[in-house]
Amino acid sequence: MAIKNEYLKGVYEGLAARNPEQKEFLQAVEEVLTSLEPVVERRPDIVKHKIIDRIVEPERTILFRVCWTDDNGVVQVNRGYRVQFNSAIGPYKGGLRLHPSVNLSIMKFLGFEQIFKNALTGLPMGGGKGGSDFDPKGKSDGEIMCFCQSYMAELYRHIGADVDVPAGDIGTGAREIGYMFGMYRKIRNEYTGVLTGKKVGAGGSLARTEATGYGVCYFTNEMLKAAGDSFEGKTVVISGSGNVATYANQKATQLGGKVVAMSDSSGYIYDPNGIDYKIIKEIKEVKRARINTYLDYVPTATFTPGCSGIWTVKCDIALPCATQNEINLESAQALIANGVQYVVEGANMPCTLDATAAFQAAGIPFGPAKAANAGGVATSGLEMSQNSMRYNWTFEEVDAKLLQIMKDIYASAAKAAEEAGQPGNLVVGANVAGFLKVADAMIWQGYAF
Ligand code: NDP
Repeated sequence: MAIKNEYLKGVYEGLAARNPEQKEFLQAVEEVLTSLEPVVERRPDIVKHKIIDRIVEPERTILFRVCWTDDNGVVQVNRGYRVQFNSAIGPYKGGLRLHPSVNLSIMKFLGFEQIFKNALTGLPMGGGKGGSDFDPKGKSDGEIMCFCQSYMAELYRHIGADVDVPAGDIGTGAREIGYMFGMYRKIRNEYTGVLTGKKVGAGGSLARTEATGYGVCYFTNEMLKAAGDSFEGKTVVISGSGNVATYANQKATQLGGKVVAMSDSSGYIYDPNGIDYKIIKEIKEVKRARINTYLDYVPTATFTPGCSGIWTVKCDIALPCATQNEINLESAQALIANGVQYVVEGANMPCTLDATAAFQAAGIPFGPAKAANAGGVATSGLEMSQNSMRYNWTFEEVDAKLLQIMKDIYASAAKAAEEAGQPGNLVVGANVAGFLKVADAMIWQGYAF
């Protein structure tokens, strides 16, 4: 374990003893607590108020049964989750993941990360996360709707525009948000901004769909600028081909990069001429097909089965945008050996702790997820503002606000890293800057939570 400070070590060990099976959650906590060593050493009030002991425990964890009927009339049972982690600076906010791998550890790691990410945006949003082990892959529209309605038939009791505002994540896109929103509206008989990622024209914000991927590239651009560099002429590899990956491709290409590889859980495609994000959008959003369908559009491209092979493709910029722990030490070493110059996390915690350490030891600028992919939740925050005002900003207005937010996040993470005596370490900077905002709000509010 990398944590040396006695107080932090004690909190971590207690947490690990209480949750021995929650490895993703413990991984996320270890990373944050390691960064906080200089903070607790210079801020005895944080120890006195037991902020660390409190911040690692969710304020509330909701676990429930979700029954739905498939197209054959057979009853199916899944588990539903909502972890309301911290509301010190605003209503809980965070996405809903629908994936068979979902369990309490994954929900808690995502909810924990979300606390600091949301604080970094500068908007008043607490941290939460939810979802289910339901697998949307291969399900009919009717089955998806049936599941989403059943999920919301319980979740509605726990959320609200000023209480907890869920959004999309893996497996939850505009279609699923629509079915959930419809059910919430039926039960509550109210039209509020209780979910974000809504359809444009029905309370959704322009540029929300693009926001996470664009934000990742805006953040990367700040890192490039700090090094006197730019996207121009850079070869980019992006894992995944979902919401984040697709729009990261569009923006990286617009900024002058060339995206040569993308993936899904079946394997990766390689196209040395650059992958057109519009083809990916059609394959994934319209056809809901597998990534190798790209070869029907571009026969000169190649497809390689397997999840980790994409990291052996030579590139200047690596943007992991698929899922947690997709880059382990071996993949990190392959990227470093191939001369990668920048690594920026689009997905949540896509790099294992030893992979991150390897990039940092090799002097490669590293953009951590909670800063780099905060553009999605920031734009969800802008959707909430527009809903409250009963008003819509234009695409350009939202995009300009997103760009400014990403620049500000970069600046505050870079500044906090310097103040912590680790200039350029954006992992430390993002953790410290996000944490301090929440910690100060918790101290101010006493021990109610
Ligand atoms: P999507 O469901 O839209 O896409 C996920 C993509 O990742 C799919 O292409 C999926 O392929 C692929 N994938 C999953 N597992 C693997 C794997 N082991 N190897 C390769 N590819 C894989 O999700 P999002 O794009 O919304 O989310 C991606 C990541 O970004 C997640 O970590 C999420 O938490 C994070 N994030 C998302 C935000 C958002 O606004 N959407 C905001 C901030 C973070 P397949 O279809 O085969 O499963």
